[in-house]
Amino acid sequence: MTETNKTPTLSFEVFPPNSEVGVDKLTDTLDQLKELHPSFISVTASNHKLNYEKTTIDLAKYVKDALGCNTMVHMPAAYVTKVEVDNVLNRLEKMHINQVLALRGDIVDGYVPETDFKYASDLTSYIKKQKPYFEVSGACYPEVHPDSKNRIDDIKHLKNKVDAGCDQLITQLFYDNDQFYRFQEECAIANINVPILAGIMPIVNRKQALHVIDNCAARLPKKFINILDKYKDNPVSLKEAGIAYAVDQIVDLVTNDVEGVHLYTMNKSDTAKHIFSNTASLFNLKNI
Ligand code: FAD
Repeated sequence: MTETNKTPTLSFEVFPPNSEVGVDKLTDTLDQLKELHPSFISVTASNHKLNYEKTTIDLAKYVKDALGCNTMVHMPAAYVTKVEVDNVLNRLEKMHINQVLALRGDIVDGYVPETDFKYASDLTSYIKKQKPYFEVSGACYPEVHPDSKNRIDDIKHLKNKVDAGCDQLITQLFYDNDQFYRFQEECAIANINVPILAGIMPIVNRKQALHVIDNCAARLPKKFINILDKYKDNPVSLKEAGIAYAVDQIVDLVTNDVEGVHLYTMNKSDTAKHIFSNTASLFNLKNI
């Protein structure tokens, strides 16, 4: 078998903290993440109609200005109006940020969005119309978005999103690489040819595992359930096993030529450092 020379990209997701303590911790986290030379750091948006500019955009500005890292801003269609999008795009342009993750946004507690954009594809085409040189990414779901009738519908809508101008896709987290490889094949069949970054969230405690099971529509394979059972009373071993599992997943993905790994950091740098110091040469990371 021939080895390809393509090095996968490495990127991180962080979220705006909601307390002073959180701000201090995140500043440390970002300093540590910067040392891993990510292709970009993405900043999430709240799934409530909260102060988007004061949270997401201000944090993105910090990542760009103080750290000098490429920054991607999450923009949730369900929670922003056209006027807000225009203002934010102009502000991003001044900040030299041109990467946006265009999302519909999580719909919680029966909230019915009164918005100018129904789907992420509507927001994608709007951004591309206003700022054609912005790079727009989109979300995708190897195990199917929970609102979709079936896999075929989900892929058809994804194709529409890419045709609307989406330059790159980032997956929902998953724990079974075979689900990802099947999804890649389905995308290829549907002529979805943009890069697909694999979203990985290491599970390092029981609470997080239960959250994933309840909220993320990601199946935990038997191999992982066994880890949770065996180390249910041993948080240190559970954390180590969760990190080892993520390393194993990443090694397999890179071996199979994944275009990039996007780590959901949960605003913690120690897990990220642990994982990527064990896989540094796979990403061409030096001095770690
Ligand atoms: P869409 O692409 O609009 O799809 C939503 C559903 O509608 C899917 O079932 C799709 O198949 C269907 N659909 C699409 N187009 C049509 C159409 N024309 N007709 C009928 N059905 C259609 N949420 C946040 O609130 N903030 C964040 O920061 C955030 N970050 C995320 C980052 C990543 C990498 C991922 C994977 C998800 C993120 N989410 C975030 C969650 C996301 O907002 C939700 O999963 C949301 O439910 C769907 O968003 P989407 O952009 O995939 O929506």
